[in-house]
Amino acid sequence: MADRDAPLDRDPNCLFCRIVAGEIPSTQVLADEHVVVIRDIGPRAPTHVLVLPRRHIPSIREVGAGDVELLGRIVAAANEVARQEGILLFERDRQIK
Ligand SMILES: [Zn+2]
Repeated sequence: MADRDAPLDRDPNCLFCRIVAGEIPSTQVLADEHVVVIRDIGPRAPTHVLVLPRRHIPSIREVGAGDVELLGRIVAAANEVARQEGILLFERDRQIK
């Protein structure tokens, strides 16, 4: 059985898989064995990044119980980039960082 987070699980026709593979240039702000975080080429905010799983996921409808760990890694990567970028995090009305 294949490791669901294996970087080889990709679709050659998927834009995001091609970015993750380096076939399409991007500005990476974080990368590890599970995710790549890149700057959006048409930012809609001062900091606008995309957290891309290395494993191709064709649709949110394809996400299942086997993806729980990967989803946690995606959120953790987003938090790490927020810290790197000095973005303030809020919880309700309280600034937490
Ligand atoms: Zn893909």
